[in-house]
Amino acid sequence: MKEQKIPYKIYLKEDQIPKAWYNVRADMKNKPAPLLNPGTHQPMKAEELEHVFCKDLVSQELDNDDSYIPIPQEIQDFYKMYRPSPLVRAYCLEEKLQTPAKIYYKFEGNNTSGSHKLNSAIAQAYYAKKQGLKGVTTETGAGQWGTALSMACAYLGLDCKVYMVKVSYEQKPFRREVMRTYGASVTPSPSMDTAVGRKILQEHPGTTGSLGCAISEAVEYATTHEGYRYVLGSVLNQVLLHQSVIGLETKTAMDEYGIVPDVIIGCAGGGSNLGGLISPFMGEKLRGEKDYQFIAVEPASCPSFTRGKFAYDFCDTGMVCPLAKMYTLGSNFIPSPNHAGGLRYHGMSPILSELYHEGLIKARTVEQTSVFEAAEQFARVEGILPAPESSHAIKVAIDEALKCKETGEEKTILFGLTGTGYFDMVAYEQFNDGKMGDSIPTDQDLQEGFSRIPQFPGNEF
Ligand SMILES: *Cc1c(COP(=O)(O)O)cnc(C)c1O
Repeated sequence: MKEQKIPYKIYLKEDQIPKAWYNVRADMKNKPAPLLNPGTHQPMKAEELEHVFCKDLVSQELDNDDSYIPIPQEIQDFYKMYRPSPLVRAYCLEEKLQTPAKIYYKFEGNNTSGSHKLNSAIAQAYYAKKQGLKGVTTETGAGQWGTALSMACAYLGLDCKVYMVKVSYEQKPFRREVMRTYGASVTPSPSMDTAVGRKILQEHPGTTGSLGCAISEAVEYATTHEGYRYVLGSVLNQVLLHQSVIGLETKTAMDEYGIVPDVIIGCAGGGSNLGGLISPFMGEKLRGEKDYQFIAVEPASCPSFTRGKFAYDFCDTGMVCPLAKMYTLGSNFIPSPNHAGGLRYHGMSPILSELYHEGLIKARTVEQTSVFEAAEQFARVEGILPAPESSHAIKVAIDEALKCKETGEEKTILFGLTGTGYFDMVAYEQFNDGKMGDSIPTDQDLQEGFSRIPQFPGNEF
């Protein structure tokens, strides 16, 4: 073992939990492109967005200028139940790999919902409650977001209606039951409940569903029922804002011990954990104060950054949501049902898309079996059973550490360990039985998705 000057776990004190979220958009020269009205192709006005989203969240969504947005006291109090989260020095993994690299991970799985999503769920539920709403609707893929939102809604006494991607509803019955225990109603999507669900079922009978489709159903329910709004667990600017709590805590902990990361790695589904983790570091880079290397890791089965188009596209299959400019595989792209359910979204955060477009973030794809190999290796030495999504970041962190072994570089690697994998044992079972495969879409598969990206002047791709 290396000499241990830095503790295994750096825990901040309760009063070091951030009191304001950091808004990286304030430091971006080129702001993320605005959401467009799908009919007129004009930027969405606050009033239009307020039919779908809570008022205060709309103002956060549109705020490109304020660097810091205060975290209301009630949300700070909720954060105290499970934050600050530990920053862990992966001494055991370093030892196992025999690498000169120093590896750190920020662990967000220490709450019942099992992932970072609670950081934004409580914020969104809080603003819905403050507005006097009855409830919120949402979609969930793997189930982590639905679980997090159910917990937040139970805490605040809000009704919570979740459309759960059918394949996950069936593969992950325990997630569903956690949500119901917290009082949420859970419907497999596509469903016969909504017009858009019925239409999708008619066009694709037997579909296992997709996040894009579940979003359409949740939005339809919210906009056709008095006192409901729709909330989303990733992609949107407001979600990255809330998740900045991850990066702010990490930065405070690192600053206390004089640790400076060279490489920062995160898995990217819709981009919220990665965006949250890197925000304060990216801020320094954008202001020209420091330099870091940022790596987004995505599954080869859903390669939005690495093989997608940077264009305005629908956020949902039913084409009812505003258009967002992002790296996208097309709103009707339905990835093969791989096990990193939380990384199966066709698009990507507009903030991260802009940063990637400018070359400030790099991206890598990894295949499912190699991800589970990394997960297994990590679990055996570090103790934590990682979520399949998080394991994408583990895989690339290990790759980077092994590169350092070859070159002898003592790089400092930081990655986001977004959650635990206790509800993913069907996936682990397949891996342990040697039955896991890798499915990578062909160019032709992708072409089909691209062909549905809307075409209008100014949206060339
Ligand atoms: C949802 C989820 C992700 C991916 O979502 P992002 O918005 O890209 O962060 C990653 N890890 C876990 C554990 C998740 O639940």
